[in-house]
Amino acid sequence: MNFFPTPYPDEILYSTLGRYCIRSGNIKEIHNFEDLFSTRNCIASVELPSKIDALIENMPVNSIYTAEYFIYNHTLFPFYAAFIEPQRAEKIIKSMRSGRGADAYIRLGLVSNSIDLNKYFRFCPQCFMEDIEIYGEPYWHRIHQITGVFVCPKHKAPIYNSQVLVRGGSRQRFITPSIDNCIVEKEIYYPNEYIEKMIWMAEDAQRLLNSRFDFKEQEWFKRQFRAKLIEKGYARMNNFVHQKKLAQDFIDFYGEDYLKLVQSPVQNKSQNWLSSMVRYNNRITFTLRYLLLARFLGIPLDTLFNERIGFKCEYDDIDSYQQLWEKRLVELSQLGLSIREIANILDSTPKTVRRAIDKLGIETFWKYNGGGKYVNKKYTDTNEFKVKRDHLRAEWIKLHNKYPNKSSNQIRQSHQALYRWLSKYDLEWLRQHSRRKANISSTVDWNKRDKELLSKVKEVVKELQQGKPQRITWSTIGSRLGVNGWLLKRKDKLPLTREYIESVKEGLQEFHIRKIKWAIDKLEKEDKEITYWNLVEVAGVKPRYLKFISKEIKDILIEKGYNCDFL
Ligand SMILES: [Zn+2]
Repeated sequence: MNFFPTPYPDEILYSTLGRYCIRSGNIKEIHNFEDLFSTRNCIASVELPSKIDALIENMPVNSIYTAEYFIYNHTLFPFYAAFIEPQRAEKIIKSMRSGRGADAYIRLGLVSNSIDLNKYFRFCPQCFMEDIEIYGEPYWHRIHQITGVFVCPKHKAPIYNSQVLVRGGSRQRFITPSIDNCIVEKEIYYPNEYIEKMIWMAEDAQRLLNSRFDFKEQEWFKRQFRAKLIEKGYARMNNFVHQKKLAQDFIDFYGEDYLKLVQSPVQNKSQNWLSSMVRYNNRITFTLRYLLLARFLGIPLDTLFNERIGFKCEYDDIDSYQQLWEKRLVELSQLGLSIREIANILDSTPKTVRRAIDKLGIETFWKYNGGGKYVNKKYTDTNEFKVKRDHLRAEWIKLHNKYPNKSSNQIRQSHQALYRWLSKYDLEWLRQHSRRKANISSTVDWNKRDKELLSKVKEVVKELQQGKPQRITWSTIGSRLGVNGWLLKRKDKLPLTREYIESVKEGLQEFHIRKIKWAIDKLEKEDKEITYWNLVEVAGVKPRYLKFISKEIKDILIEKGYNCDFL
């Protein structure tokens, strides 16, 4: 080549090569391939092009470009390879420099059919116009070609499919964008709640493209995620993960439709790509799923790659915690405690304890009665027990001093393990050192609450008055609002609401009369005869109640001109 076009910012290499072809003056397309790669035996590849070494060889003499420069700045390698191990990244770079075309895709798992790469080249109409203005021609942007990116991070607007196939025809041509193949046929509008998530994805993808984060082992990411899961209450230190809760919250966070759009639906709540991602295995998944999980957990990309996420506990990292946990387990299993008791002390589950015992090959007391330190002693007689008890007692007192306005019950809520242990082994002491404290004087603005509640109550009453009759009482209103019980107890603090409910609530007879009126209307509408049994059935009022309101029913029927001999 005696010239090579300067790549534009974030231009994908394919696009630069396309611009070369336009200017090369070659009549046959295939001659361009000979110019660029010294061979006809290769294809135009978009995301992860290969034979880049050959391309560099063929550059004009004083050209400054290196293979690495192109790979990092003008291909999708930094995105698709962001979460793979260093050795594999090396191999992929090698494939892109001199290997077979498909190797990089295979090594990244992009040929398996679990994710479909984009079918068409994509473009942002605003970037398209701006590029023409600034550079005199449009070009294909890297960020727009990423599968799962739906908006342009610069313009925060939807990107569109062009008419150019990414993998079409003989693939021995480089097609540049133009006003003929980049047409907005129909404007795209995404729901607002998607747009926010789409912008996250676009911005994160852009960070990956431009940041050159270090490659890390899978274990690093697994641990980062695990630490955050523990912090957020989705996992315990002992490797247990609340998969169902995690899956549900994740779905609620993104919405099922958005997850489908990014080809990452979470269908089965306990077995899915998400559950696999948070388990300790070496499986690598698609980049966008790491991004989805990181956003969900609130981990910024810089932190995810560069800072070890800490554990909010007294131990520095999970290893030393795990070691301590196992050491305690060995000790406890020598004490003749049941698995359930051990699980309680360790704040774990019997299943986990049993598994750990098997894994560690512990000779437990109930399997092997000898050699243990305290075999002939009860746990509560051991010195260890006394040390622990004193420690936990002190802890309990400390918490009560720290939160003078909280009752023991409230303190217990956030210190379940402590409470459980004391109530199991030290109940008498616990009783003597617990307090019931009235709630501190509340700062609730009851006037405001009363007014707000009143309008809600009015709506509920309106609903109750429509359709099939439901009796209007304090408790039906309360349950509709989800504050049954609370409402009755607080009614003296809510004068407006109280007065209103008292004025509309129904006695039993009143309610039965309303039911009968409703039944008469219904029978009329359905053109059915008004008989005793029809009324009983449609109104749902039992005959033994009917006799108490027969006078009222008669009045209604007479007024409507019906015969009421049956009453
Ligand atoms: Zn744009």
